[in-house]
Amino acid sequence: MTSPSTAADHAADTRGSGGEIVCEDLVRIYAADGIEVQALQGLNLHVDAGDLVAIVGASGSGKSTLLTILSGLDTPTAGKASVAGVDLLTLGGKQRVAYQRHTVGFVWQQTSRNLLPYLTALENVALPMALAGGQTQSSITERADGLLEMLGVGHCRDRRPSTMSGGEQQRTAIAVAVANSPKVLLADEPTGELDEATSVEVLEMMRTVNAETGVTVLIVTHDPTVSEHVRRTVQIRDGRTSTEVLRRRETDEHGTEHHIADEFAVLDRVGRMQLPQDFVTALELKDRVRLTLEPDHAGVWRDGRHDARRDSTSHDEGDQR
Ligand code: ADP
Ligand code: MG
Repeated sequence: MTSPSTAADHAADTRGSGGEIVCEDLVRIYAADGIEVQALQGLNLHVDAGDLVAIVGASGSGKSTLLTILSGLDTPTAGKASVAGVDLLTLGGKQRVAYQRHTVGFVWQQTSRNLLPYLTALENVALPMALAGGQTQSSITERADGLLEMLGVGHCRDRRPSTMSGGEQQRTAIAVAVANSPKVLLADEPTGELDEATSVEVLEMMRTVNAETGVTVLIVTHDPTVSEHVRRTVQIRDGRTSTEVLRRRETDEHGTEHHIADEFAVLDRVGRMQLPQDFVTALELKDRVRLTLEPDHAGVWRDGRHDARRDSTSHDEGDQR
């Protein structure tokens, strides 16, 4: 995967670590009342600068844990995590504030968590810029207006969140999140409280922001239909990334455009991968499997069945029985 040229400038300084978002063998263990919960069990993820990626997984699979770490609100138990070249395991207090203010922006599921209720949409978008300092009031207002326009909520400028629809609030929340031009925009179930049509609108707005500003976008959700709106979807299961779907458009010889989705298993640095559950069920795989190396692929065999095949060939030396 290559980085779009719009994001090439800030990609250059992170290329050494292999991406804008890098997680390697990330582990987060929660200990509560003497019981340990492994929310992340060695998660691997690389996202290129300028990309728009969805992480999809069932409830409890570790999505929010991952985003809380990437947003700098929580520290992992072990492993590596870096965003835009910032190492999240060694981040000190002051750097953490700067990181949250300038490097990442977030949109949360609860519309009420994203906006301050007593401020208008314009004031909400202006606030992070005012806190960051270094800009005049008029340039802040100009930028806030521009962002609200880009997100199609210019008409909400002087309204408070309580008088806006859920979709309008989330669009405004995206404007707030990108106000200080972060390198990465993180969204945790941003459409979780919205109906289907409004969800689609908000996802399209994520795409607009990604395309117009070059910000890297990571959306986590339990809603598998989100993957229809992004080029790359990573499946998270039991605190690990398991499979990945890449979508592309292809035009055939009659000029008709086709949407093609390719599914891949995620292979980690040491060669581990997870077999999809339907493969495991269909072949009744259990406990251990035999692997065979073929010239252009690898085979996975049920223990018993492959034994039978091997018995009829001459590869018996070294068999442990
Ligand atoms: P998701 O967002 O995919 O639904 P979470 O990241 O919220 O999943 O949770 C993953 C696992 O970690 C779950 O089993 C959850 O119960 C557990 N968990 C999350 N936060 C905490 C916490 N603060 N203390 C203890 N366990 C937690
Ligand atoms: Mg969650």
